Amino acid sequence: MSYSYEAPVSQALFDRASLVTPGGVNSPVRAFRAVGGTPRFMVSGTGPYLTDADGREYVDLVCSWGPMILGHSHPAVIEAVQAAVARGTSFGTPGEGEVALAEEIVARVEPVEQVRLVSSGTEATMSAIRLARGFTGRAKVVKFAGCYHGHVDALLAAAGSGVATFGLPDTPGVTGAQAGDTIVLPYNDLEAVQEAFHNHPGEIACVITEASPGNMGVVPPRPGFNEGLKAACAKNGALYISDEVMTGFRTSKAGWYGVDGVAPDLMTFGKVMGGGFPAAAFGGRKDVMEYLAPAGPVYQAGTLSGNPVATAAGLAQLRLLDDAAYEKINAVSAAIQTLLTDALAKEGVAHRLQTASNMFSVFFTDRDVRNYEDAKKQESFRFNAFFHAMLSRGVYLPPSAFESWFVSTAHDERAIERIAAALPSAARAAAEATEVSA
Ligand code: PLP
Repeated sequence: MSYSYEAPVSQALFDRASLVTPGGVNSPVRAFRAVGGTPRFMVSGTGPYLTDADGREYVDLVCSWGPMILGHSHPAVIEAVQAAVARGTSFGTPGEGEVALAEEIVARVEPVEQVRLVSSGTEATMSAIRLARGFTGRAKVVKFAGCYHGHVDALLAAAGSGVATFGLPDTPGVTGAQAGDTIVLPYNDLEAVQEAFHNHPGEIACVITEASPGNMGVVPPRPGFNEGLKAACAKNGALYISDEVMTGFRTSKAGWYGVDGVAPDLMTFGKVMGGGFPAAAFGGRKDVMEYLAPAGPVYQAGTLSGNPVATAAGLAQLRLLDDAAYEKINAVSAAIQTLLTDALAKEGVAHRLQTASNMFSVFFTDRDVRNYEDAKKQESFRFNAFFHAMLSRGVYLPPSAFESWFVSTAHDERAIERIAAALPSAARAAAEATEVSA
């Protein structure tokens, strides 16, 4: 497929990067492989905008895959970071910033009685699973197809996000031993969960699920699904782990827990709570968390865990996320959703807009998407044409049909107008797309 616009500086950077970095990127979905074309190398971000190395400005609907919920370079976050950096960047000792961030999380999310800070969402889910296994003395983990929990060996089976984007069934490098205790089930299927417990009595340590999945596109839990998971875990002596790395502090003040009120045994967080820095966390029931070293026997550690700059950024961001901020984000999200469906409907493009609070994505299909199998049936070649049409008109979408779109408090009228102006021709491009042209 050829595109009517060029990005020579990004292309030169990508050529350089490809010599020294596998695939030219440090995280696969950044490479535009699914949609084709040259990945844009960004040089700066302000509010709802990103500027690339060719000097083009984009309205950003990726927001660093979730973290930038206040927009880019928010003055209060920058100020907190600058003040923290001036005091030193890492001490390898406890510090007050990490206590304050832990207190903020505990205050917001009721089921979290204790929390441990780590540096990435992957570390959070990996550690939560180890803890669940240590606490229960059991080996097996239940996960759902299309849910992505980071690149943890045991959790890569039938994962979402980049694994879905590239259609990888599994990944080489994960041994049978590492994945052998993972039971993968279809999402939104409580019967399959009950059957797994029935087939593996006393063996399942935990069920881990995205609180509301965003890594196969947005596929919210059906009413009662999370409650059912919790009940099945409680009945069978397993822990219910809700992965809120994406939804946490985004879908409400208390994340998805604030939406559905189902209290997990353990939860994982990342993205928003780091304010654009590497900070993540896992937490939950005190009796379970106290199994962690040095209080208990399950080992878990990190040189940069609770880093003072990252915790300062996260804390500054969370403190600005009050009720008014969520009202704003929800309103921005709703406005874009309406523009999006109107534009696609006008061109007669079959689509399903799916939402989870202010997270949303569009599937190019005429059926509801309830699980990964449904998601894979969409006509993603239409998304690719749509993506490039939006990009060429200054709107940066996730470069994959299997990802949530993200907005921020900084998306103002001007940004929404840019999106509105880009949508009609993008909808037309989606309508006209054929599988061959993708
Ligand atoms: N869990 C979920 C639900 C995620 O969306 C992600 C990342 O997208 C992760 C875990 C992994 O987080 P990280 O990329 O910080 O390792």
